Amino acid sequence: MQTCIRCNHCGKQLDELDMRESFTIHTTAGYGSKYDLNEIDLRLCCDCFDRLVDECVLSPVVGEVGLF
Ligand SMILES: [Zn+2]
Repeated sequence: MQTCIRCNHCGKQLDELDMRESFTIHTTAGYGSKYDLNEIDLRLCCDCFDRLVDECVLSPVVGEVGLF
């Protein structure tokens, strides 16, 4: 049985492309976060991932991956 996986940010059901991107953060929030000691499992679709990268003041884009 396939479980329906959704983007945490927009609620969209992740399609095949989103799953290939598979952007996830799994962590336990630390001291200083309002989610202190909560377990976090964040999953984003491609659109929300792109938006997040666009909104960064310091770009997390290091460069293009070389294709051989
Ligand atoms: Zn989304």
